[in-house]
Amino acid sequence: MAGNAVATNKRVVLKRHVTGFPMEEDMEVVVDTVRLRVPAGSPAVLVQNLYLSCDPWMRGRMSKHDDGGAAETAPDFVVGEWVLGPPQFPTGKVIDSTHPEFKAGDLVWGMSGWEEYTLVSKSESLFKINHTELPLSYYTGVLGLTGFTAYASFMEVGRPKKGDFVFVSSASGAVGQVAGQLAKIAGCYVVGSAGSDEKVDLLKTKFGFDDTFNYKSETDLAAALKRCLPDGIDIYVDNMGGATLDAGLLNMRWGGRVVVCGMISQYNLEEQYGLRNMYRIIPKALRVEGFNVTGYFHMYSRFEEEMAGYIKEGKVVVVQDVVEGIESAPTALIGLFSGKNVGKQLVALIRE
Ligand code: NAP
Repeated sequence: MAGNAVATNKRVVLKRHVTGFPMEEDMEVVVDTVRLRVPAGSPAVLVQNLYLSCDPWMRGRMSKHDDGGAAETAPDFVVGEWVLGPPQFPTGKVIDSTHPEFKAGDLVWGMSGWEEYTLVSKSESLFKINHTELPLSYYTGVLGLTGFTAYASFMEVGRPKKGDFVFVSSASGAVGQVAGQLAKIAGCYVVGSAGSDEKVDLLKTKFGFDDTFNYKSETDLAAALKRCLPDGIDIYVDNMGGATLDAGLLNMRWGGRVVVCGMISQYNLEEQYGLRNMYRIIPKALRVEGFNVTGYFHMYSRFEEEMAGYIKEGKVVVVQDVVEGIESAPTALIGLFSGKNVGKQLVALIRE
């Protein structure tokens, strides 16, 4: 490649900070150029992003917090810039590298931007893709951040035992579908909730959940849980928060584990739902633990091997929702908050 070669680089930037429900007009696609060579200096990797990820926790970074987001998972996005992840963990190809561990042509996933090319300087957040025989897009989902979130949260915080009763909320989504299937592999009885009949059907027919309910058509969530899990819940993987978490707390068994993974029902609210049933953690000796995937990357290699094996054996199946072109990214991201996505929401920048 000629040293001065350049390419256009489309990127999504934040136009204004968001209050309430995000809209397409809060973001715009701008066109820059990028030099296809890593500048001389400290080790860095130039990545052409091939699949971008849409993640609910991007919403938190779109708001303006008084402390700049210091108390959040990651700092606020800067208006006019779409900063590097987390939470952006796309899949891509190395175009040029001055980092000793990466070379041009390597397929990678990891910390990158919502753009076509990203110069990654913190290469400790970049992982080489080892299972190139599997679809590359899986590394932006089941073998990437969301699959890893399901694995680490369920295995390390949930600590499943054969025969445990498990409840997964937002179960057809990227994290939920993997958590549910891991629970089946662990020999548990698994119930999932989702927000449409189509999704609920998918849980049983595709992912092998034992029982399900559509939380939008239930008038009493605690009763729905009692109906599906009459003996109570040992492990509750919560992706929703709010009223579902409250109902789950009422139905936990002695020594149960509540894995607090996400609270998507709360992300667009100005005033968050106040939990009423927290006292239940005492009589049932519950462990309620917040989970943040960034603390578990040391386990990634083990996860990659195990999960690739499950996929090849057909023990884990994958449902993805793929839109094409970076121009589609803002609409796809917003769709997460109305449940438009069925499975892991991806943006393909190439055709595989
Ligand atoms: P996802 O489930 O694939 O997509 C989001 C789903 O959330 C939607 O399809 C919708 O499903 C549901 N939803 C949207 N708005 C809702 C609302 N107001 N109330 C209830 N449900 C709503 O997303 P994901 O990537 O797998 O993420 C799932 C959760 O895990 C999120 O809360 C995310 O923040 C969290 N997460 C945490 C970590 C961590 O380290 N802690 C890492 C990754 C993800 P329905 O149609 O079923 O309602």
